[in-house]
Amino acid sequence: MYKNEPIFLQPVLQERIWGGKKLHTEFHYNIPSEQTGEAWVISAHPNGPSVIKNGSLEGKTLADAWKEHGELFNKAADNDEEYPLLVKILDAADDLSVQVHPNDQFAREVENVPYGKTECWYVVSAEEGAELVLGHHAQTQEELAQMVEQGEWDKLLRRIKVKAGDFVYVPSGTIHAIGKGIVILETQQSSDITYRVYDYDRTDAAGNKRELHLERSIQVTTVPHQDANVEQIENVIGDLVEKKLVEEQYFTVYHWNLNGEATREQNSDFLQVSVLDGQATLTIEDQSYDIQKGTHFILPNGIKEYSLKGQAEFIVSHV
Ligand code: ZN
Repeated sequence: MYKNEPIFLQPVLQERIWGGKKLHTEFHYNIPSEQTGEAWVISAHPNGPSVIKNGSLEGKTLADAWKEHGELFNKAADNDEEYPLLVKILDAADDLSVQVHPNDQFAREVENVPYGKTECWYVVSAEEGAELVLGHHAQTQEELAQMVEQGEWDKLLRRIKVKAGDFVYVPSGTIHAIGKGIVILETQQSSDITYRVYDYDRTDAAGNKRELHLERSIQVTTVPHQDANVEQIENVIGDLVEKKLVEEQYFTVYHWNLNGEATREQNSDFLQVSVLDGQATLTIEDQSYDIQKGTHFILPNGIKEYSLKGQAEFIVSHV
């Protein structure tokens, strides 16, 4: 029965020292404080599992659904892997620490967790002049270690300016930081392993700095930095313009702009959908659902065709 229903998910709000209140003012989520940095909107990760809001699985977590109802995700019966992806919205009211994530092999061997972290960002909004860190200028691992040790951050870090609508692909091993004034939707592997390289020498109320992980950071960083070559392909289906933002080993991510009506087929195992702006009606067989900015859901494997009607903007992804 639930095979043909969308799975609507409740965001998990997370406080961060760099967070703000835009997850409330822009997305109307109930934030725990004015330092709320992250909404984990499609998550089966133990550090913030999404709860299902509707249908026969109401009240269960996405992780439960993945384990107990593998058919919804076209998961083989002998597949005992964890849910592979995680989608978040981040509000950076202040700079995030400069960091790097390991790949799968390092995550498994050193951290004993199933996934490393390749991630990508769609910039939802950015204040005038907002910048982020992506990559570095060291040519060898020795040079990287030396510049980190001597704190030559201006020389080491590669900064780029961003605006709303930009897309940034961040494979594991890429030094990165989201800058102040940026709101992003992040699609990533379901992992929470972060190695902090630099935290601007910030201290908390008690005068303590956050822990750094320099040795592991240097071990996992790709040297020299390689710019990912991401080709974006546009496709028009009815009144929906689909832009493929990235297609790689772990995920494929699209931006959709709906201005009217479109009927679509689902060809992936399951589809993760986030409404970034506007509102629309989703119709599956004879059932309709209102969706709007801040709604997140999964179309399970049983849904082979669906229609959308309205004015809305989406980020969509699949494995
Ligand atoms: Zn990251």
